[in-house]
Parts: sequence; C-alpha cells; structure tokens
Amino acid sequence: MAGFHVHSVLVTGSNRGIGLELIKHFIGKPNPPEVIFATCRDPEGTRAQELKNLAAQHPNVVILQLDTTDPGSIKAAAKKAEAHLGGSGLNLLINNAGIVSPSTLESATSEDMLSVYNTNVVGPLLVTQAFLHLLKKAAQGSNQKGMSCSKAANVNISSVLGSTEKTPETFFVPVVSYRCSKAALNMLTKCQSMGYKDAGILCTALHPGWVKTELGRLAGRGPMGGGDLTVDESVSGIMKVLCNLSEEHHGILVTWEGNTLPW
Ligand code: NDP
Repeated sequence: MAGFHVHSVLVTGSNRGIGLELIKHFIGKPNPPEVIFATCRDPEGTRAQELKNLAAQHPNVVILQLDTTDPGSIKAAAKKAEAHLGGSGLNLLINNAGIVSPSTLESATSEDMLSVYNTNVVGPLLVTQAFLHLLKKAAQGSNQKGMSCSKAANVNISSVLGSTEKTPETFFVPVVSYRCSKAALNMLTKCQSMGYKDAGILCTALHPGWVKTELGRLAGRGPMGGGDLTVDESVSGIMKVLCNLSEEHHGILVTWEGNTLPW
C-alpha cells in the first residue's frame, strides 16, 4: 500500500456512504493524493456538512458540485477540475454515486426503471466521457509500465446484484430495477475497457460488499435489514484492491476483497 501513490482522484457521490468513506481513506493515506476531488450534487446542503468539515481541514480536498443526472453540471465540474489540475491529468476516477429503489417483477414501473438507469448507468457514462481527456493526459504523462490506479483508471462501483450468473443466489433481494442497472453498468465497464485500452486507462467494475449505508439499508434483506460490513471495513478492502489493480483486472468485476465475480 505504501508504494501506491495517486496524484489525483475524483469520487462521485462523496458526501455520504461509501463515497465519503473513500475520501476519508484517501486523506488518511501515508502518501495522500495531492488533489482529491470530492463531488456531490448539493455541496451547500446539510447532507454535505461532514464533507465540508473535512475539506476545511484538508486543503487537498476540493469539493465540486456534480449531479450525475445533469450533463451541464458534469461538464462544469470537468472544466473546474481541469483548471485546478493546471496541466496535469486525472489519475483515478471513481464512479460511485448510485441509487436503489425497491422493485419486483410485479411492482417495477417505467419511471423507476428509467430513473435508476439514468443515475446508475447514464451518469457513469457521461462522467467518464467528460473526464476522459484528463484520464488520457494522466496516462500519457506517466512513465509507469502497464495499467494501474496510480497511472490512469476508471473504476465503476457496481454490485454483485448486477451479476447475471450470481442471480440465483441473490434473487431474494427485491431490487429488479437496480439489478438491471448494475448489469448494464457492468456492460458499460466492459465496453470502456475495450474502448480505452489503447489509451492505457484501466477500467474495472468493483462490488463493495453489502455495506451499512442508506442504500445498503434500502436494499436490505432479511431481518437484519441493512448490510454486513461497516463502511470502514468495505473501504479498507477497496483501498487495498485499488492499490493492486493492474491489467489483469481490466474489463472485469472484482469484489472489495479482490476476488473476481462472474458477469
Ligand atoms: P448511499 O445511499 O449511502 O450514498 C449514495 C451517494 O450517491 C450519495 O452521496 C448520494 O448523494 C449520491 N448520489 C445519488 N444520486 C446522485 C446523483 N444523481 N448525482 C450525484 N450523486 C448522487 O449509498 P452507498 O454509499 O451504499 O452506495 C455507493 C455505491 O455503492 C452505489 O453505486 C451503490 O450502488 C454501490 N453499492 C452499494 C452497496 C451497499 O451495500 N451499500 C452494495 C453494492 C453496491 P445525495 O446525498 O445527494 O443523495
């Protein structure tokens, strides 16, 4: 872990849950990134207060407004990030923002399907499009061989619930719209891995485990109703995984423990 240095990282949906914990872990690294872009849709809202407190204490944390369902806000954030980076590229982009809503084959509606798809799939697509030139710049400016998060990487936070092959084991979780969106995000990751390979940008989908967050609670299964892992346990694992990602993880889905999941 000590040798793993990322100059710049951007996390979407970083005001709470796994996103906020990622920001805390990047700050707490022995060699933290010089620039940590913590993006959220409402930086002035009460839900961003903890993030704002962090940014007030750590000058390397830069809060940017970014609503993944608003193309204008994505482009504006990319412009601000580019200006802040002052000629450097962006090493690591983590598409973390996501939503879930309870839905079964019987209850799923067109509104629910489209809204979850918009946030969980269209959002990551547009965010990566907008920041692609900065990821490319980071890859071009690096003298590291191979692929890594310290060079240039696009990590999409997905879910085992989007794994087609694993569905018989997880079908008891009634989130059909979410499952379909994460299956599509997995496909997007695969497409990105094909499209950005020559540019040297590592593209990986990552399942964070079942985590005690608002989303984890909403997707809650069984009487426990809300997650196996604390955000700290999940993100501690994710940080180790990010440190070890290489071309062998390009275009695949891995877990917070570094194991490969089938699509
Ligand atoms: P939370 O509900 O705790 O946090 C979700 C985050 O996404 C919030 O910061 C929220 O911001 C943000 N967000 C939602 N919609 C948008 C949007 N349109 N634009 C910008 N930000 C948005 O969820 P988690 O931390 O648990 O989830 C993070 C990721 O991990 C998601 O992609 C989720 O699918 C994935 N995941 C989570 C699992 C779990 O068990 N928790 C399991 C598998 C995957 P706001 O405060 O403004 O709503």
